[in-house]
Amino acid sequence: MTRAIDIVRTVRDLRTRIAAWRKAGETVALVPTMGAIHAGHLSLVTLAKAQADRVITSLFVNPLQFGPREDFHAYPRNESHDATVLAAAGSDLLYAPEASEMYPPSFSTKVSVGDLTEDLCGAARPNHFDGVATVVTKLLLQCAPDKAIFGEKDYQQLLVIKRLVRDLNIEVEILGGPIVREDDGLALSSRNAYLSPAERKTAPVLYQTIRGVAADLAQGTGADAAAEAGRFKLEAAGFRVDYVAVRDPDTLAPLHGPVKAARVLAAVHLGATRLIDNVPVPPDA
Ligand code: AMP
Repeated sequence: MTRAIDIVRTVRDLRTRIAAWRKAGETVALVPTMGAIHAGHLSLVTLAKAQADRVITSLFVNPLQFGPREDFHAYPRNESHDATVLAAAGSDLLYAPEASEMYPPSFSTKVSVGDLTEDLCGAARPNHFDGVATVVTKLLLQCAPDKAIFGEKDYQQLLVIKRLVRDLNIEVEILGGPIVREDDGLALSSRNAYLSPAERKTAPVLYQTIRGVAADLAQGTGADAAAEAGRFKLEAAGFRVDYVAVRDPDTLAPLHGPVKAARVLAAVHLGATRLIDNVPVPPDA
């Protein structure tokens, strides 16, 4: 049996634990999550362990990043399962604050990153990235880690966090981890649990399609034509498409015509579930 993981719920207890590690000269990495831990999250813990002596995983379903008609209340929560698998993966501490610890009465500060957040998921989910930027800034200030690890699954989020850390001079290195997928290509996500069996069968078409877009781009198809073909395929398969976009991989600036390096990003709805995914151009081997 693996040992149980220690859980702290207050900033004060968190800082006491971290101070002891720092006193012993140990380095610290942070893996922020909203729980419903799956192999994608665990891959980030593994990456973090290779980067630092101690790994903190945070579990906080952040109300600020959900829209009023989104799934905040339905979001899967299972802390005891999460604690077990995080311990087995070698995380040293689970930081699971209550909302009242994170946002005490009269909380009134917002971190807002411009530019990068204006379109793609920012357009489809107003205020989402302000919520993400605010909670991630708080987590970084609460933990003061040497490194923090985020998944490429949320590619726009990863760039937003890199930008905010640079803009606000937060002393931490932000690292991205590759997307972990099911055997059929579907990117692991806590939200996959919402899919009906029929939707689950359709869901891998998202990855197949954006890989197809990336392959077309690598063969010289223009960005607009490749993205349009991708949207057509997804709609034909039954998805409601928020966007299929070909963007600069560092700035997310729109690209047109033939491209050398790019990122293909897509967001779709399948029934009541919103799925996102992205792939690099040129495609992975
Ligand atoms: P979440 O709990 O969905 O907020 O995700 C927490 C972290 O795990 C974020 O940095 C995500 O990008 C990352 N993540 C989620 N799914 C995956 C995946 N399939 N592969 C790699 N990282 C992931």
